[in-house]
Order: sequence, then C-alpha cells, then structure tokens
Amino acid sequence: MNIILLGPPGAGKGTQARHLVETRNMVQLSTGDMLREAKDSGTEMGMMVADVMARGDLVTDEIVIGLIREKLEDKSEHGGFIFDGFPRTLAQATALGELLEATGQKLDHVIELRVNDDALVKRISGRSTCGQCGEVYHDVTKPHPEDGKCVKCGASDFKRRADDNEESLRNRLMEYYKKTSPLLGYYYALGMLKRVDGLADMKVVQASIAAILDN
Ligand code: ADP
Ligand code: ADP
Ligand code: ZN
Repeated sequence: MNIILLGPPGAGKGTQARHLVETRNMVQLSTGDMLREAKDSGTEMGMMVADVMARGDLVTDEIVIGLIREKLEDKSEHGGFIFDGFPRTLAQATALGELLEATGQKLDHVIELRVNDDALVKRISGRSTCGQCGEVYHDVTKPHPEDGKCVKCGASDFKRRADDNEESLRNRLMEYYKKTSPLLGYYYALGMLKRVDGLADMKVVQASIAAILDN
C-alpha cells in the first residue's frame, strides 16, 4: 500500500510516518530528510538548496522528483511507501503519478492531516529530534525523557532545525497554502483524499490513519 501524508509544516506527518514504519514495515520517503542529509554531507546539491530551505521556500521540482525517482527503484520487501512532504506542487504530483505507473505501482490513499495555524506555530516552536534515530519530540506534548536519553535508541543528542523559527515558518505556511493546498482538490477529484483531525492526540491520529489503511 502506498500513501501520501499531506499537511502543512508541523501537522504531524513525520511523527505518523515513523509509527507506520514501525508497525507496518512501510518505507518513509521524506524529501525534507533527504535534502537535510544532502546539506549535512555537503554535496553540491545540498549546498545549492541550503539557503532556499533556511528561508522556507520550496526547492525546485526537478531536484525533489529526482530524489524520489531513485527511491522508487527500491525493490526490497516492504509494506509500501509513505510519501512525507512530497508531493508539494501539482507538477510533483503528476510526476509521482507517472513514476508510479512506470514502475507498475499505484497510490492508495492521500491522507490530509488537518491542523490550524495556531497549533502549527506551537508545534514547530517546540519541535526537536533525536540526532541518532530521528525520533520526533515536542517540549510540551512529547518531552525528552527525564534521564535525557532517547526512548527509541538511548542516545542523548537532540537537534532543533534551523528553519523552525517564526519567520521561516510563516514563509513555509505561505508556500503550503499557495503551492501545496491545490493538491487537496487534485486528489479529491481522483477519489483518493481522506481527512484526519491532526489536532487530536498522537495516538488518536494513529488510530484514524490505521482505520483508513485497514478499510
Ligand atoms: P516540515 O517538516 O516542516 O513539513 P520538511 O522537512 O518536509 O518540512 O521540509 C523542509 C524544507 O525542505 C522545506 O521548507 C523545503 O525548503 C524543502 N522541501 C522538502 N520537501 C520538498 C518538496 N517536496 N518540494 C520542494 N521543497 C521541499
Ligand atoms: P511534520 O513532519 O508534519 O512537519 P512533525 O511530525 O515533525 O510534523 O510534528 C511537529 C511537532 O508536533 C513535533 O514536535 C511533534 O512531536 C508534535 N506533534 C506531532 N503530532 C502531534 C499531535 N497529534 N499532538 C501534539 N503534538 C504533536
Ligand atoms: Zn533516538
């Protein structure tokens, strides 16, 4: 089963994707994570996109489509792909459809996580991740354990993203509403759109998504 998790920055896509990886052996394809890796390892592409990402603008369709194309060639046994933070434009959405078709695959569900802007600001400003395994934390809703060790891997270095500041977030929200939200109509028309209340507790969101996948 292949799904898209759609929603603005901070909606909980990464948190839910990790849960699906653990419980259903799915493969998370986060273009944001791939771009950050390219930046951290100092590749030419990584250096090209660093400023764009810091501002909260979208990187070019060509770059992210290229990243996804490589991953779709993964023929190992798994429970399906979770597209997290991709597609973000109509051009990316049509490219994804073509890539899936060319490799004999299809998209099953597009799940929109609905969260209002006030909640997004709170979520983004409290977000951190484990530097080792990527587990996602939040200062209020999912704080680091008292012993300072990651619940998943025991490491004790937590990172905050440079672009998780108010100015960049405002820009990322504008990009979302201008360029990504038209995908809601696109997938609705294809009969694939499912909506989930992303404001609910993480476990409740998990259950809503599970109900869609098991239906
Ligand atoms: P968030 O978790 O806040 O939704 P991501 O980690 O998905 O953010 O993305 C971080 C940044 O990486 C974006 O602000 C954008 O600059 C870039 N990016 C990630 N995915 C895409 C994409 N599909 N198209 C264009 N830019 C992207
Ligand atoms: P995205 O990948 O969509 O940008 P994340 O999964 O990184 O979003 O979540 C953003 C922040 O919100 C993180 O700090 C995470 O711990 C927190 N968070 C995610 N889901 C929920 C939820 N249902 N309730 C409260 N906080 C949440
Ligand atoms: Zn960890």
